[in-house]
Amino acid sequence: MKSLYVKFVVVTVGIMILSSILAFLISNTYYQQKLKPDNDSKITKIAESVTTYINEQPEINLEEYFNHISSIGYQLYLIDGEGEDGYWGAEFRDKTLPSSTIEHVLKGNTYHGILNFPQETFVTGFFANELKNTIGVPFKHNEKKYALFIRPDIKLLFNEMHLLFGWLLVLTIFLSIVIVLFSTKYLVKPISKLTSATKSLSNGHFNVELDINRNDELGELSNSFLSMARKLEQMDDVKKEFISNISHDIQSPLSNIKGYTKLLENESISQQEKGQYVSIINDEISRLSNLTKQLLLLASLDRNHDILKKKSLNVGQQIKELARSYQWLVGEKGIMLSYTLPDVNFFGDPSLLNTVWDNLLTNAIKYNNPDGSIEIALEEKEDSIIIRFKDTGIGLNKVEIDRIFDRFYRADTSRTRTIEGTGLGLSIVWTIIKLHDGHIQVESIENEGTTFIVELPIHKHLMPSIED
Ligand code: ADP
Repeated sequence: MKSLYVKFVVVTVGIMILSSILAFLISNTYYQQKLKPDNDSKITKIAESVTTYINEQPEINLEEYFNHISSIGYQLYLIDGEGEDGYWGAEFRDKTLPSSTIEHVLKGNTYHGILNFPQETFVTGFFANELKNTIGVPFKHNEKKYALFIRPDIKLLFNEMHLLFGWLLVLTIFLSIVIVLFSTKYLVKPISKLTSATKSLSNGHFNVELDINRNDELGELSNSFLSMARKLEQMDDVKKEFISNISHDIQSPLSNIKGYTKLLENESISQQEKGQYVSIINDEISRLSNLTKQLLLLASLDRNHDILKKKSLNVGQQIKELARSYQWLVGEKGIMLSYTLPDVNFFGDPSLLNTVWDNLLTNAIKYNNPDGSIEIALEEKEDSIIIRFKDTGIGLNKVEIDRIFDRFYRADTSRTRTIEGTGLGLSIVWTIIKLHDGHIQVESIENEGTTFIVELPIHKHLMPSIED
């Protein structure tokens, strides 16, 4: 498998090569279309000014003058009508020149060899050191006809620049490759770190550290990765705590049952003691049965989110019936139960909502003071219904309020220790309310009382019409 590092380097170097080729082709086209004609007319002007000068100075020594012109950066070829010729300046690499061209110039015409040089590549076009790649101009001197062919000595003019540009190019390529090699390492390194962090996460080590301090997408990815790892760690802790809580809550009634059945085996115990033990065993069995029922309900609520079997129901009526069924318990404890429960239609799961009211009401009874009171109120708003369960019980402090919806959490005070419970009721309540897109809120003052406020949104478009 090719690593990301190698791929990145190959792609970048490929892009560099491709862009160089494209840049070369574009500049070559520019040379052919624009620079070549410009160059031709520029050299033609220079050649014409040379011949004009010769014409103006009939006494001029041609040899000396051409030596001078060549020294300032030109290559020259001179030929007369009799075929006598001479070269000045750097030697032409290719000296072929058709005799027809020489004849043409001797007859008084200008030869545009630069403009008509074959459209080859940039290098051979501009730098081709050929006699054909010149400008030819005619002139007369001492009654003799001459043809003068001239072109700039590119090597002389550009020698230093040539080297400079050459080195510049080599250095640019070299430095780009080195920088690509290092910068790619910098880019790929966090990915390798993330990969090893993912491996350690999959092996169950959630406490991963990533020293990636970047403000780019990779930094964002590593931050999300870290928060995911923390969440997984929390979930793992919750799972472990959950299992240990379940084990404890199942184990303790079981060992109680075992202990009391052992005592029952003893034939010497009195009838009264026997009855007492049997009632304890019964209590423990109903505690176990209650716990498993709640666990099953929580598991099914967690597992599938479309568990809700929604129907239109009269919430006021539902809570009233529930309150009536607890009337005996309330009376026994000397608690005053009052309610304001108008008929309000709501579209929800009747059985699960009943579980919510049941838990809130039994808690209000369980955690109340003798001779305390409970008030239940239902209020219909524009787009929600609000149900309040207010008691004058033992209340909760801030720390307890933050935790009461956690699974198995029970406020551990001297007053709650003797009260039966599993610590699952409110987490069931919370889950059911969330499934109905609602929310629950607690207001409580220690030793004064607690109010649970449930708000359930009314999805009017889902409500069946009266005719339904
Ligand atoms: P439990 O089975 O223990 O009642 P819940 O999940 O219903 O479990 O409640 C969690 C804890 O919240 C209780 O153990 C109790 O400490 C506290 N609690 C719940 N309702 C009330 C209330 N009305 N007044 C005071 N404390 C309450």
